[in-house]
Amino acid sequence: MTEPTIYELSSPGRLGVRYPDPDVPLTPLPTEFVRDSLPLPELSEPDVIRHFTRLSTFNYNVDKGLYPLGSCTMKYNPKVNEEAARLPGFALTHPLQPEETVQGNLALMYELQEWLKEISGFAGVSLQPAAGAQGEFTGVMIIRAYHKARGDTKRTKILIPDSAHGTNPATSAMSGYQVVNLPTDSNGNVDLNALKNVLDDQIAGLMLTNPNTLGLFDVNVVEVNRMVHEAGGLVYGDGANLNALLGITRPGDLGFDIMHFNLHKTFSTPHGGGGPGSGPVAVAKHLVDFLPGPIVDIIEEGTEEEPPLYGFCMPSKSIGRVKSFFGHFGMMVRAYVYISMHGPEGLRNIAEHAVLNANYLLARLRNTYKIPYDRICMHEFVAEGRWEDAPGIRALDIAKRLIDYDFHPPTNYFPLIVHEALMIEPTETENKQTLDRFAEALIKIAQEAHQSPELLKEAPHNTPVRRLDEVKAAKELVLCCWIPEN
Ligand SMILES: *Cc1c(COP(=O)(O)O)cnc(C)c1O
Repeated sequence: MTEPTIYELSSPGRLGVRYPDPDVPLTPLPTEFVRDSLPLPELSEPDVIRHFTRLSTFNYNVDKGLYPLGSCTMKYNPKVNEEAARLPGFALTHPLQPEETVQGNLALMYELQEWLKEISGFAGVSLQPAAGAQGEFTGVMIIRAYHKARGDTKRTKILIPDSAHGTNPATSAMSGYQVVNLPTDSNGNVDLNALKNVLDDQIAGLMLTNPNTLGLFDVNVVEVNRMVHEAGGLVYGDGANLNALLGITRPGDLGFDIMHFNLHKTFSTPHGGGGPGSGPVAVAKHLVDFLPGPIVDIIEEGTEEEPPLYGFCMPSKSIGRVKSFFGHFGMMVRAYVYISMHGPEGLRNIAEHAVLNANYLLARLRNTYKIPYDRICMHEFVAEGRWEDAPGIRALDIAKRLIDYDFHPPTNYFPLIVHEALMIEPTETENKQTLDRFAEALIKIAQEAHQSPELLKEAPHNTPVRRLDEVKAAKELVLCCWIPEN
């Protein structure tokens, strides 16, 4: 990295602020609290602004261009969400305020719970979990609590398809369950025969992502759910791919017992470094009492003139809290605005366009890239980043070369069941021109892979930082540009 750090830019005596002359007597600083070992950079205001503005331009983001990171649903985040979240009535409330002083916030949370129920086809929602992974953890804890409440203590295993996101086995194992791997059949669905063979009275449940991480709707989903239920297990729906289903079908109607939402995927709240996530959990009727709380309920019905009185409640057999206070409220405001802005028709439109965009890209790339499970896809698809006649080229090389064409790379090396996977999710917020430019870049890269592979191997060429040693970066993480001397 050739960029100077803010410490290297520092020049002794340079100042960014000027204080007025003091109008009180000068007193020396209490020396026991002042560290000599903490040098602060000395810079002018323009130095600081330019340094950080320049750094910010090195980052790729959804406001800059296409971000086709499969499974992550990196859609555009409407700016009106931000404006609403910054309204003082939302932004300046304190979680310890008495409920009667935050009725507007509670009303918003209540309505969001209701909308999420309607969208997903479930009977109860808790907004607490902080992200999808925590929603999964919550869901698995609910599965555990359900079996325990029935005195059914034999169940020690959770089934996870081999295409699943890593958080599924992780949350199951964290909850004390043994993870049993379930293979995918040649069409990209759960292998029903394999499922039949492992189902017994030790299975606590199955975690299923539908559409799955191949971007395919599992056509056996109703049968899978029926089989698991018949064996006494519950089915957890990983809702990360809900963007493909909005307004078209509902996981609750497909027979799932529990699911999580990723407000930061489906409902456009900021993602990754842009802000905290939010992973509300929805459950069917038989699990409502186990939800984590507090959740918002109507304490006193309203009248023609008076709005209802809202309050926090703890479900009777609740697994407890999974997050301090009430979850990430600012994200709830953003998702609320997004859902109300679109309405039922608009939500359906989102899913239709997300699916249309993915199928358009798939059609443009099918002759250039191998598609291992090639059928009509949902909101994303998985291609192979390798060719037999271009040995040595890997998905990683294609991903890095895309950066030279000014695109964020797709997800790679996931799902694990596809060799050199490139998982592409354009989302509904991209127009045809952008999709065409992206397809043309990928087609050009395929030509380069055959004609001048070194272009891919050495990519990216124009970024401030060239190709990183990712293993070293993970193993020797340095988060601080200045390390104290002693
Ligand atoms: C993103 C994702 C998750 C995890 O969600 P987070 O909000 O990132 O914790 C789980 N499963 C799938 C399929 C995902 O895409």
